[in-house]
Amino acid sequence: MRFYIKTYGCQMNERDSDSAAALLQSEGHVPADSEESADLVILNTCSVRDQAERKAIGKLGIMKRLKKEKPDMIFGIMGCMAQSRGAELLQAIPHLDFSLGTDQIHRLPEIVDSILARRGKILADERTGADTPGIDMHRADPDGGHGFSAFVSIMRGCSRFCSYCIVPYTRGLERSRDAASVEAEVRALADRGVREIMLLGQNVAAFGLDNRAPAQDDVSPFADLLERLNGINGLKRIRFTSPHPAYFNKKLIEAVTGLDKVCKSVHLPLQSGSDRILRKMNRPYTAQEYLEIVRALRAGAPEITFSTDVIVGFPTETEEEFEQTREVMARTGFDNAYIFKYSPRKGTRSAQWEDDVPVEEKERRNQVLLADLERDVRKRNAALVGRTFEVLAEGPSKRNPDRWQGRTDTFKNVVFTPAPGSAVTPGDFLNVRIVRSTAMTLYGELV
Ligand code: SF4
Repeated sequence: MRFYIKTYGCQMNERDSDSAAALLQSEGHVPADSEESADLVILNTCSVRDQAERKAIGKLGIMKRLKKEKPDMIFGIMGCMAQSRGAELLQAIPHLDFSLGTDQIHRLPEIVDSILARRGKILADERTGADTPGIDMHRADPDGGHGFSAFVSIMRGCSRFCSYCIVPYTRGLERSRDAASVEAEVRALADRGVREIMLLGQNVAAFGLDNRAPAQDDVSPFADLLERLNGINGLKRIRFTSPHPAYFNKKLIEAVTGLDKVCKSVHLPLQSGSDRILRKMNRPYTAQEYLEIVRALRAGAPEITFSTDVIVGFPTETEEEFEQTREVMARTGFDNAYIFKYSPRKGTRSAQWEDDVPVEEKERRNQVLLADLERDVRKRNAALVGRTFEVLAEGPSKRNPDRWQGRTDTFKNVVFTPAPGSAVTPGDFLNVRIVRSTAMTLYGELV
């Protein structure tokens, strides 16, 4: 069969789609370029944000037409929506054949076989709480085209129970992989040419602590893992996402700033700059503690860049509390921020509270933060003009294929023009001198 997987949401979902694709390929199925040309279409869904859920629901509607044109087509969902609403969706959507929960990905080939044998609709949403067999499989081509970069899932689930978040319910509690198996996987990837890895986990810095609280200053199994991976020959860059600030103790800060392969770019979810709102969110740090982590990381690695997640319009958030978020953002100086207008997720603690900040006010706060961010990043990028950076070439730029696009260690997006006749290949490390900048991009020339 020809299969097509459409992925919504986070990188964990992308990783799960990779695993699902690898399982299907191991059974002889082949990837299709589009849903129209596929015999099997899977939506890998996300419940974390209202917008992602609405997009997937919209897509479920569009699939009805396709299924009418190709009645033999198999259509299924996986991911967080499948875990939390699979039974309801299977019942409500006649053209949906299966729903695969987040612990059940290994059953995909068997489920496809059952549907081919006309055994009716299938719901697989058991929570095993264990690692899914086969889940660590990579596609033959790990980044979908280049082969120099790969996602490596090191733990699954989250035990933090932030009051607004559905993840602990859809993905289950924390389960870490064994450090030796992660190391073996990364070694094998490096041996076959992978230069950059992204370590993935819903609460990645809790690696090895499964369900235990953040540890004392000198204990961080995640920092130990970074150190092990830093020693792997051939590997050049180690990234990770998403860490909870509460796990940034002295040991982890030293690992991030001191290990040469660990990229100097950290995604550090702030969520709010108000201590009262942070408490209500069940985020166990204060704005001051957050800024202290930023200060310590900058002290050890002055070029380090930060990105973050912020929620505006959380229940009862006042104008003054919103201004506190603005201030923490300004003092940190983020390179990127995913700003979300609060929306209640059914089944979470905050969904029981009145969603009392008006939609227009949430939108206004969102726009204010976006404008602050744009201004701030534009200024910081302008200060980089004239500097030279090592850039990992990713491929031709989407807008102009004569130009190439790549990333610095600090995750800055750099566009450059290779010299005529020069043979740049994805995965090359090149020195690029920055000649101009915008808020989103640095433009440069090869040195
Ligand atoms: S740390 Fe909080 S926001 Fe992040 S996945 Fe866990 S519960 Fe959700």
